[in-house]
Amino acid sequence: MLSSITHFLRVGVSGCQGSSRSMATIISGNKTSKLVRERLRTEVDKMRTEVSGFRPSLLVLQVGHRDDSNLYISTKLKAAAEIGIDAKHVRLPRTATQDDVLQSILSINEDESVHGLIVQLPLDSVNQINTELITNSVSPDKDVDGLSCINAGKLSRGDLNDCFIPCTPNGCMELIRQTGMTVEGKHAVVIGRSKIVGAPMHDLLLWKHATVTTCHSKTPDLPEQVSRADILVVGAGRAEMVRGEWIKEGAVVIDCGINHVPDETKASGKRVVGDVHFASANQRAGFITPVPGGVGPMTVAMLMQNTVQSAKRFLLWRKMSQ
Ligand code: NDP
Repeated sequence: MLSSITHFLRVGVSGCQGSSRSMATIISGNKTSKLVRERLRTEVDKMRTEVSGFRPSLLVLQVGHRDDSNLYISTKLKAAAEIGIDAKHVRLPRTATQDDVLQSILSINEDESVHGLIVQLPLDSVNQINTELITNSVSPDKDVDGLSCINAGKLSRGDLNDCFIPCTPNGCMELIRQTGMTVEGKHAVVIGRSKIVGAPMHDLLLWKHATVTTCHSKTPDLPEQVSRADILVVGAGRAEMVRGEWIKEGAVVIDCGINHVPDETKASGKRVVGDVHFASANQRAGFITPVPGGVGPMTVAMLMQNTVQSAKRFLLWRKMSQ
């Protein structure tokens, strides 16, 4: 099925781009995520038929009420509803203490009717809360964000089939697959080493047998590192930092960045750009993700995929223990 997706995107997108040889093929996260969500909806329908009334379930735990978090949560809830996942949103007040949050997580961990639990970050509390402690208190079996030490450790050891993979890097891998380029044997460069993007991206590429260089804010001569990349994944949070001139001709460029820059032509007075300077990179790359419409939609689709996977594991466990 994936090869047909690739074909669809290549035909569809290069058609949109015209026939200029100097332009990269756009890897559409909007189209790819739609196909993933459609596949998941079919899987969920099948589960509901096979196990009467059963639905995968996802719980989003929020502390406080940041506007950006509210927006991200509503996007997740909408995607879940479309697929047939039973999604719940539990909000704790800003006055919640670390113990309050831990208590909530521990009780959700015990609740068999919840298959996926995510804690929306950042935590918006008036109290001091240790985020690391919170993400690590989510049961690894329900940690569909893949942020706990257990899941991260398994990923770093290459146990890809026995862990939840963080959604953004998992989405990036899916987009790389769309290009038809084999990862094995390639030189991949990742910019960023965060727990949510860069570090798991490194692990995924490594265990798909690329040779991986991970760069960060102390890496000298970033352009030189980037110029060696057959596959470049950027998650630095620096608007349009990577210039087209740095990029190897024909490389696959995946841009995770979401940055707001001033733009007087927009009603909002700002627009969203990635970490890659798209106009110049588009002249050098073989394939490139747009921002918006690239990695962003894939992150949500992969969260849904992890939730469905968790529900499947639960059903298997229940069957075995009967
Ligand atoms: P973090 O701030 O946690 O990490 C940024 C990483 O980039 C760090 O490792 C940092 O290095 C590195 N970095 C920063 N500046 C430079 C530089 N000048 N040169 C080289 N490396 C640099 O960000 P996240 O990983 O959470 O997010 C990265 C980007 O991805 C952001 O734009 C974010 O909005 C976006 N994002 C998008 C998602 C999506 O769904 N599309 C989801 C999550 C994030 P050091 O470790 O040395 O500080």
